[in-house]
Order: sequence, then C-alpha cells, then structure tokens
Amino acid sequence: MCSAVHHPKYVLCPHCDLLVALPELNPGQKGVCPRCGNTLISRWSNARAQPVMFAISALIMLVLANLFPFVNMKVSGIGREITLPQIPGIMVADHFSSLASLFLLFVQLIPAVCMIVIILLCFEVPLAFRLKAFMAKSLFALRAWGMAEIFLAGVLVSFVKLMAYGDIGVGISFLPFCLFCLLQQRAFQCIDQRWLWDNIMPAVSPVALVRPGVGGLAQGIRACSCCTLILPAAQRTCPRCRTREHARRHNSLQWTMALLITSIMLYIPANILPIMITEGLGSKLNSTIIAGVILLWDDGSYPVAMVIFIASIMVPTLKMIALAWLCWDARREEGRADSERMHFLYEIVEFVGRWSMIDVFVIAVLSGLVRMGQLMSITPGIGAVLFAMVVMITMFAAQMFDPRLIWDRAEKKNQKESSVDGK
Ligand SMILES: [Zn+2]
Ligand SMILES: [Zn+2]
Repeated sequence: MCSAVHHPKYVLCPHCDLLVALPELNPGQKGVCPRCGNTLISRWSNARAQPVMFAISALIMLVLANLFPFVNMKVSGIGREITLPQIPGIMVADHFSSLASLFLLFVQLIPAVCMIVIILLCFEVPLAFRLKAFMAKSLFALRAWGMAEIFLAGVLVSFVKLMAYGDIGVGISFLPFCLFCLLQQRAFQCIDQRWLWDNIMPAVSPVALVRPGVGGLAQGIRACSCCTLILPAAQRTCPRCRTREHARRHNSLQWTMALLITSIMLYIPANILPIMITEGLGSKLNSTIIAGVILLWDDGSYPVAMVIFIASIMVPTLKMIALAWLCWDARREEGRADSERMHFLYEIVEFVGRWSMIDVFVIAVLSGLVRMGQLMSITPGIGAVLFAMVVMITMFAAQMFDPRLIWDRAEKKNQKESSVDGK
C-alpha cells in the first residue's frame, strides 16, 4: 500500500552491479550505493534551470577569457604578454601541432561543447530524438576529457617555476578563466544522468521482477551504461538509447592490458627524451621530466618539485601498476573484503589519472610565455608529446576496465559457499 506512494526506484549500480531500491528523494538529497559508495542519483531542487544557468555563465566567462591578455612576464626590462588563443598558435609555429590541438581540445573545445550540450538538453530545445540521444551519450563520454581545471593548476605551477627568472603577473582574462573552471564543474555536478535520460525519453524497463540487494548478473539483468535503463542481461541493444553492449564490457581485461602495455612502451622514451628545451645566452638545455624535478629541487622550489614529481612520475607509474594489479586480481576468486579494497584502488585510478596532464600544460604555458629572444626562450620537446600520449592511453585503459568484474567474483564465491552449505 505504502509502496504505491513511495514507489522505490530500482537502480543497478554501474560500478558494483548491485540492485538498489531507492525511495523518492527530496531536493538536495542523493542516493548512494550501500556496497561501493558510488553516487547513484542526485536530486536537485531546480534540475532544469540550475545547470543551464551555470553553463551559460561558464560560456560567457570562456569568451571573456579568450578576449584579453591572460598572463604576462617581465625579465630585465623586456615585457611579454600572451592571450589564451596565442598559446596553441605559438606551439603550431614550433611544429608542435599535436600539443596545440590537445590544448585546444581539452582546455577549450570539449568543455565548451559540453556546456552547449547541457544548455540544449536541459532547456528542452526541440531537436530530433536521435540528435538528443547522441548529445547525451557524448556528454558523459567527454566529461573526463575536459581539463580546464588541470590547465589552471598548470598555470599556477608555471608561475612558481618562472618566479626565479622575472616578474609574473596575471591579465584581465585570468579571473574569467578561473570562474569558467568553477562554473563548468558546477554545471556538470547539477546534471543527473538518469534525470537527463528520463527527460529526453521516459522509458519503462522491460524487466518486471527484480530482487534488490542482489547483484544484477545473478538475477539475469544488466544496466545500459549509456542511459542506465535496466535490461535483461541477454538483450544486446538498449531500446531507449540504441547502445549495443554485453552484460560486461567485452574483452575488458584484454583491452586494458593491451592499452597498458602500449602506455608502458611509450613511457620509456617519454622519460628519456627531452620534454622541454631552454635556450638562453648562447646555451641550450634539454630537460627531461626527472631532470626538471631535480632542477626545481636544487633551486629550492620544493612544493613545485613535489607537484611535478607526483603528477608526472609517481601517478603514471603507480597507475600502471594499479591497472595491472586490477586486471590480475579480477581473475582470482576472492571474497568481499578484497573486492572493497580493489574497488577503492579503481576509484583512485579513475580520479587521479587525468591530473598527470599537468606537466604538459606547464610546458604549454612556459613555451608560450618565455620568448625573450636571445635572453631566454623555451620550446616544447618531443618527450612532451609522448608523455601526453601516455596519459591519454592510460585514461583509455582505465575506461576499458569494467569495475563490475571486481565484484562478480565475490558474488560467485558467495553463491558457491551457500550451495556447499545447502548440501
Ligand atoms: Zn555500487
Ligand atoms: Zn540505453
């Protein structure tokens, strides 16, 4: 009787595959998976207007950030000022179009496209369903690739690096860019994947009988990774968003391992080849990642040396070890305690992976700003391109890993044990 009023909403956790029955939530509340702690649903008091407002403000700030000088530097009387669009321009002139396109894509284009998509989808602009479905699909796929805030961190690190050489100042565009980073984050936070898809096209799950508290695969159901609809495990195509997939990501471990080996192979030359070339007063200095860290440490900038060391050496190395460990562990038969541990590791890998890009952005800012002719100029090195590829490939590897595999074996073990006890 009561269930008719507070109709529970069934959600299959995309991280651990547990079926959770959620009651009707009040605005401001969020529903969290009791097994892995993943946020399943967040309800906003103004689900439509809030993200649109943040997205529009973010776009305005992005335009402002591109119009005026971004940062400036003064070394022994020579001043230099650059705008944001000048940074990729300088890299193209240095024959590093690859880095320039990564900068444009990750820092400007992807965040801007995501904001436009949020506005179009939440504002209910009359568009064809297929276009809306495509936009919603892309929005969540692109989310990890918007790196405006990582670029901002890169700018701050470059400031500390350059402080020893001259006076650094920020331009009019700096504040709008900071606001853009904040606002686009906030716009994303206000978007709930389930709400968005229900808004595009309400759909009723074709599965009638479900048992909350039990894993999806154990009861023959799966969740669509794109629109979250609960489907029979054997049904390959989602009736709502038309995404075709298996109950578990197909060949997940093989893909993760293949990408991991590729990234390890690239990581070796990325560390040997110079990432940055500093020319000044007749001398030329090729610096590798580790040489840059040592130089900073010797100069006494310990915090920046630590940041670069953690982001460029420790995080990529530990991430590779963690991914290999996850793949190896997913094949073993272990209980719930191990699953919880491995899931925590997976969450860390997912979260920190993109932050390794910070060093690439530092090089972008340094090579854009430090052009003082004979006095001092910095150009990117080929190692920077290889390092950017390492970060991107490890991000793909982490995305290919299916976290539900971590929990599947715990469920299997449980079932085995209970059937043995039954006998
Ligand atoms: Zn979960
Ligand atoms: Zn779907």
